[in-house]
Amino acid sequence: MMSQKLNPVLGSCLTCILLSAVLAAQGANQRTRPYVEALAADALEGRLTGTTGAHQAADYIIEQLRSIGAESLPGQQDYRLPFEFTAGVSDGGSSLVITNGAPWQTAEVVQGLSFSDSAVVQGEVVFAGYGLVVPEAQEFSYDSYATLNVEGKIVLLLRYFPEDVEQAYRGILARYSGLRYKAMAARQRGATAVVVVTGPRSPNAGQTVPMTFDTAIAGSGIVAASVNGAVADAIFEHVPNQTLDSIQAELDTGNPHIAGFAIDGLELTLDVTVTRETLTGNNVVGYLPPSSSRVAPEAKPYVMYGAHYDHLGYGMQGNSLARQNEHGAIHNGADDNASGVAAVLAAGAWLVEQELGRGIILAFWSGEELGLLGSSEFVKNAPVPIEQISAYLNFDMVGRARNNRLSLQAVGTSRAWRGLIEQSNVPVGFNVALQDDPYLPTDVMSLNAASVPSLNFFTGNHEDYHRPTDDAETINYDDLDRVARLGALIGRNVALRGAPLEFVQVEQVAQQGQRASVRVFTGTIPDYTSDIEGLLLGGVIEGGPAAVAGLQQGDVIVEFAGQSITNIYDYTYALDAVKVGEELTVVFIRDGERLQVTLTPTAR
Ligand SMILES: [Zn+2]
Repeated sequence: MMSQKLNPVLGSCLTCILLSAVLAAQGANQRTRPYVEALAADALEGRLTGTTGAHQAADYIIEQLRSIGAESLPGQQDYRLPFEFTAGVSDGGSSLVITNGAPWQTAEVVQGLSFSDSAVVQGEVVFAGYGLVVPEAQEFSYDSYATLNVEGKIVLLLRYFPEDVEQAYRGILARYSGLRYKAMAARQRGATAVVVVTGPRSPNAGQTVPMTFDTAIAGSGIVAASVNGAVADAIFEHVPNQTLDSIQAELDTGNPHIAGFAIDGLELTLDVTVTRETLTGNNVVGYLPPSSSRVAPEAKPYVMYGAHYDHLGYGMQGNSLARQNEHGAIHNGADDNASGVAAVLAAGAWLVEQELGRGIILAFWSGEELGLLGSSEFVKNAPVPIEQISAYLNFDMVGRARNNRLSLQAVGTSRAWRGLIEQSNVPVGFNVALQDDPYLPTDVMSLNAASVPSLNFFTGNHEDYHRPTDDAETINYDDLDRVARLGALIGRNVALRGAPLEFVQVEQVAQQGQRASVRVFTGTIPDYTSDIEGLLLGGVIEGGPAAVAGLQQGDVIVEFAGQSITNIYDYTYALDAVKVGEELTVVFIRDGERLQVTLTPTAR
């Protein structure tokens, strides 16, 4: 998609001269605008990590760092800190032989799972039902392996979790039904390989599991593949008097005492080849040395700012929300996250003129959209000791402020934040919403995990999120400047303190266990900036189930499928428990009125 820029042709008429004066004045205030316009230009092709566009974005940021007078980090030759990552996976031609039959191959029939080792495995087969292991600590326990010995065997298991269990247990089971988690459970019990079947009674029945783009895929230590319904039928021919359908129906009752079994007289040869492509990403990191010895800090001599500069490229990686007619267009990511980069650069340009006792690190992460790769790499192989960083300020999607609202998240990571925010916000005057939780889908997560007091700036979700329409002209530059200013003031006040901030470990609200991929799609766009009780919709996806049900932007969901909803966690928990294609009731507040509609979730 072409991004249109504000670039009026000015004539010599009086109005035009006045207009140009107005624009000049506006331009002078809008310090962040040129940064966003440069980074969100089509020329950078959406800044996908590892691509030429991302390299050019890094070049641009380095140029800006130089021009504000930032150096490279102490001990580093370069602003660029490279890291390697897995850029994609594909099946390199996996196959399966049942006893001495002809090999089943092609991706529709047998396909490696993204996290599989590449190897050939031969052996006897044990059918382990859904292959679920729910630890005893949960309200109930479930162990597909309770009566099975799978040592040295190939485990055959069903995708997902029992289809007909009570709603109360669906949420728990869903959390342990991720395939990586199931494969790990099989490996821990000595299995040599895992073969996954999508049962005839489940969504996507009989289909192989698509290879997902998952950057944390290396070294799962087990061979794993999915097979289609035809292969599954061929295997179950060896099971007397039963079909996969009848076996699944029994398992779907959720009765934990229905066990799997060894399939006698059957041997599988599974040959899985998963090809991974490795590319290089670059964090870009600048440094403003302390400029005053008058305010010597007692400890922790760094304050760090950060924003990710990568985005989705042409949106081909699966995390794009492009609509039908937008597929394959450049995702410019003006708000996500040229806005954050602009805020950090603008804050840096202001901080360089202050007398500060702590050094300021200006970090620009790559690989955020692929799973926080850049910031986790920085934490893992830190170029400065991570425990020397007194605080981290992160900016992700800060260009779409509405009604003077700004969310500050991860506030729970230090008791000092509330006071610092209040004090710094006096001259800026945002209506701030504070949220304690640091477990956010952005780089704050990496720094919080490293026990650095962290703060995240966020102006909210919107309907251009992860779409090609996230363009430079949609940004609220006046308020983006104010975000940068507030960020600069907070960072300055941290840098001026004698004692560093004390870190507080925030309890993780989301339940433990591997999070299964949510399989239902509702088409809601939650507004995370809201602190009202319930789930405020920032929008609904056109044509999605929520839109079809009649929900709209501004509605506040208070009940979903019989569960009361007070926040986003309640909502994701409720999502785990509902079924694709099954009607449910949504109770919501609109204009002070309590209303309800019927929504039918679709498959994701
Ligand atoms: Zn994003």
